[in-house]
Amino acid sequence: MNWRLRTALRKSNGRCHWCAVTLIVGVDETHPQRATIDHVVPRSRGGRDAVGNRVASCFACNQAKANKLPEQWTPPRPPPARAEWARAASMLLHRRWEALGSMR
Ligand SMILES: [Zn+2]
Repeated sequence: MNWRLRTALRKSNGRCHWCAVTLIVGVDETHPQRATIDHVVPRSRGGRDAVGNRVASCFACNQAKANKLPEQWTPPRPPPARAEWARAASMLLHRRWEALGSMR
């Protein structure tokens, strides 16, 4: 693994910067979870090849984002953290409903 990828992976805890999927190193070229380096501001848009502009990205996000700017693009998968939060919130709401029901 090259040092650029290693540094980027460390920054995002081995997850995709865009969709937070767990990245896999050394898998098939086209594997959607393959760890790649992505430039937040694409080099074709004047982005620099500097540590601050490099993030770890899954192959799927890297392909989908292509040379778009971050604000012109939405990751294909919602970050799992957000999904878990939504689930926890709906469970809490459900319990509140149950509590209300038992008070009647
Ligand atoms: Zn991704």
